[in-house]
Amino acid sequence: MQITKLLGILLISSIFLTSCSNDDDNDVIVNPLQINNKQPLGTSANDLLSSVNFKSLTIEMVSVQGFEPTNNAVENFKSFLEQRLFKPDGITINQRSVASSNLNPFTNDEITQIENNTRTAFNVGDDITVYIYFADGSSVNDTETNVTLGTAYLNTSIVIYENTIRRLGNRPNGPTVTTIETAALNHEFAHLLGLVNIGTTLQSSHEDPGSRGHCNVEKCLMEASIEFGSGMMEMLGKGVPELDPLCIADLQANGGR
Ligand SMILES: [Zn+2]
Ligand SMILES: [Zn+2]
Repeated sequence: MQITKLLGILLISSIFLTSCSNDDDNDVIVNPLQINNKQPLGTSANDLLSSVNFKSLTIEMVSVQGFEPTNNAVENFKSFLEQRLFKPDGITINQRSVASSNLNPFTNDEITQIENNTRTAFNVGDDITVYIYFADGSSVNDTETNVTLGTAYLNTSIVIYENTIRRLGNRPNGPTVTTIETAALNHEFAHLLGLVNIGTTLQSSHEDPGSRGHCNVEKCLMEASIEFGSGMMEMLGKGVPELDPLCIADLQANGGR
């Protein structure tokens, strides 16, 4: 009886110890070197726009094999950044391909997990880094009428749903894949820059009351329809939309060009 009891206690305590150490393994332990890249969306707007804390920007662009963006879209995106950011030591885009996660369609948690598994570049010294993942699928939130082209989900993290873009870009008489990719990249990065009113203070009243983080100026890059595909096809028919003067004024007031 006593031995049984003792065994029982030993067993319980060993289970307890095991589960404790398992818990420790499962905890999301953010490496202190990575913590500045795991902050809420918009909190690095000034660090990305100005050269006060960071003189260069390195973008780690990770694509699933076969879902890489077109070279022209990457060039257009780089020009957009050079127009708006003060980075005297330069903007570098490093591209790399990885195997599929086989998780399509993706939840936000799955995208975060993929970033945890594939991101290698974090802020060092005066170089700020951004991670962009080109997914081989679509968002789990997509509906028949509304599809998501991309999402900016942390202060330096973006996902682009490349498979969704290719489906839209291969329609006859529609915008090209390059046009949609460029619009999605520019739009999502502008969210990292704090637009609209998510980390960069409004200089005038142009926030869309119906869609957080978006602009109510017609044809502006930060219109909500760019992100969600509804009305996007018509809007992109005339090329990649640009930021309107009100959005640019916000960026300039927060240290941007
Ligand atoms: Zn948006
Ligand atoms: Zn705008």
